[in-house]
Amino acid sequence: MAHFDKILIANRGEIALRVIRAAREMGIKTVAVHSTADVDAMHVRMADESVCIGPPSGTESYLSIPAIIAACEITGAQAVHPGYGFLSENANFVQILEDHEITFIGPSAEHIRMMGDKITAKETAINLGIPVVPGSEGGVPDIVAARKAAAEMGYPVIIKATAGGGGRGMKVAETEADIEMAFSTARSEAKSAFGNDEVYMEKYLQTPRHIEVQVFGDGQGGGVHLAERDCSLQRRHQKVFEEAPGPCITPEQREKIGSICANAIAEMGYRGAGTIEFLFENGEFYFIEMNTRLQVEHPVTEAIFGVDLVREQIRVAEGMKLSFGQKDLEVNGHAIEIRINAERLPNFAPCPGKVTQYHVPGGLGVRMDSALYDGYSIPPYYDSLIGKLIVHGRDRPEALSRLQRALGELIVDGVETTVPLFHALLAEPDVLSGNYDIHWLERWLDENMG
Ligand code: ADP
Repeated sequence: MAHFDKILIANRGEIALRVIRAAREMGIKTVAVHSTADVDAMHVRMADESVCIGPPSGTESYLSIPAIIAACEITGAQAVHPGYGFLSENANFVQILEDHEITFIGPSAEHIRMMGDKITAKETAINLGIPVVPGSEGGVPDIVAARKAAAEMGYPVIIKATAGGGGRGMKVAETEADIEMAFSTARSEAKSAFGNDEVYMEKYLQTPRHIEVQVFGDGQGGGVHLAERDCSLQRRHQKVFEEAPGPCITPEQREKIGSICANAIAEMGYRGAGTIEFLFENGEFYFIEMNTRLQVEHPVTEAIFGVDLVREQIRVAEGMKLSFGQKDLEVNGHAIEIRINAERLPNFAPCPGKVTQYHVPGGLGVRMDSALYDGYSIPPYYDSLIGKLIVHGRDRPEALSRLQRALGELIVDGVETTVPLFHALLAEPDVLSGNYDIHWLERWLDENMG
């Protein structure tokens, strides 16, 4: 067992602050890394030490493995927390850290690799008894095989890149007339986005919800689940509003899918936080992928269980057991997160610039995770997420009214944000009743902002 005195956070923005906060509560020193565009960033101010690792472009800074290894060596950091995005699911990075005897706060390179290839991930899920979307067996090499697979599973079908991520390289074929076009477009998109044109096929579900199960493993055969999050409100396959527990999941369904996932994690010997993502339709769960990292929306899970997931990540990376067992984990109330972006509506065009006034909502059950401050200039080089507003209430209606109240207190002046979108969504009967599937928001945007 290794106790960390100092860890490095290979990330920026709100998630870097999130990790610094957990480390500080544990008495662990923190090292921030930053690009030249982030000299004045909050994570640099809040960390105990900081190292400049390169120019503004992410590829030359937050994604530069040599620069991050050098920063560890200079500062003597014993472990690296990757946050989400950037190097968080890069098995090669994990391998290189290991070669330098630096601990990666996350799963093994092998598990990251296994889940990063979607065909292997799906095969692994099947072997672990996790229900999957009906689809092709492995990759689909050519149009003849694609036609055959589609005829077997029935239209509509979706063609997906095995190296996929971020919703790219996916194409739907409604009928046989579309299959040739969909297949070749998916392949060429996969090739240009991921340098790998391997694709596979699935039955296209028409009205599913996106339900994901939070799991945790200690890498020593222990595994638990922390219920589910519903992230069905999506724009371009990107989540904008997340809640826990899922408003349409019964305690029996939660227990059933949760224990399947927890057992799978234990059997894999998985270490750290993970998310097993499903589409959910007509009472059935269908695995789509597993993310081997902390998710943006993890605070809603923290709210309903009262646990610090980053602290647990650090503990298991040190070789300790989880501080809770399955029987300690009981859902308490309801939590909702909204993702606030510096973007101009209705087109969601990035809107970086100087924040002239920033006021954070407060009060019972309100949490704001953000790296903004008065006078901060949001640089144009990175993701446009500027804050996550998370509310917790005794039940869903209380969480919703708390969210409306908190949103009314929030002030971000100087840049345009997606706050007005949430004011509008919180007046929609379907959102208030929890009656939406993964296509609801796109349809609503077409009708209301098109
Ligand atoms: P990525 O890794 O690119 O995010 P996923 O496999 O997680 O890809 O899928 C992203 C989103 O695409 C899902 O949340 C869902 O909205 C849609 N999707 C994926 N597979 C299917 C399917 N079989 N049927 C319907 N929608 C799907």
